[in-house]
Amino acid sequence: MIILYLFVFILGLVIGSFLNVCIYRIPRGESIVNPPSHCTNCGTRLQPPDLVPVLSFLFLKGKCRYCGVKVSPRYAVVELVTALAFTMLFHRYGFSVYFPAAAYLTAILIVVFAIDLEHRIIPNGLVIAGLIGGAALTVYNVFHPVVIYGDRHWWNPLLGIAVGSGFLFVVAVISVFIYKSDEAMGMGDVKIFAPIGIFLGWRMTAVALFLSVVTAGIAGLLLMLKSMKNRKATFPFGPFIALSSYIVLLWGWDILVWYLKRL
Ligand SMILES: [Zn+2]
Repeated sequence: MIILYLFVFILGLVIGSFLNVCIYRIPRGESIVNPPSHCTNCGTRLQPPDLVPVLSFLFLKGKCRYCGVKVSPRYAVVELVTALAFTMLFHRYGFSVYFPAAAYLTAILIVVFAIDLEHRIIPNGLVIAGLIGGAALTVYNVFHPVVIYGDRHWWNPLLGIAVGSGFLFVVAVISVFIYKSDEAMGMGDVKIFAPIGIFLGWRMTAVALFLSVVTAGIAGLLLMLKSMKNRKATFPFGPFIALSSYIVLLWGWDILVWYLKRL
């Protein structure tokens, strides 16, 4: 069994390495397949020994082997986070079809987290990639109901889109009227909840939405207390959506049951 976990962990490291390419290139409008990996400072094409996840970073002491420029620790962090995230999903879902499905959504969420944090955008390509995977899961659900949905209705994942994106779209429209600006809620946040809605089904999407609003609200309060002078300080919502959705993949039903018992 331990060897399976190790395999999933290494798979996570390798996919995390690819996610790094996505995180760097997608906001810059570059292709994620061409050219092959190169140093972003000196342009030297990286060789296999330079590309081993985490280990290359450690052995090269966080520097480019060719020009010596410092490499952001983000690369190793994203690889490790992806590996850990995949391993926990495997622990949760084992050999069910939902393991690759949850891992697919998680990979997209990690890219959303990193890009929105740095660039304050959620690129459409990520939404589309999510919808393609989600379409496959929706079709699968017709024949073999997906457990996380909580029922056997074929329309459950579609209602998930309405619950997630629909709710945020209404919030966005209202905030345009109140603040006379469309900056309050990014359309990227609205759109990314479409694939999340499909992958989680409507009940778990509601939990993910609730968690992301609550955690972002707490973060907003802390930010206001910390920087009273700078009331205009804003932060991206995407990282909260990504983290909340991943937590729901692992413990969504436990959270829902716990919450309903307290009512
Ligand atoms: Zn270099």
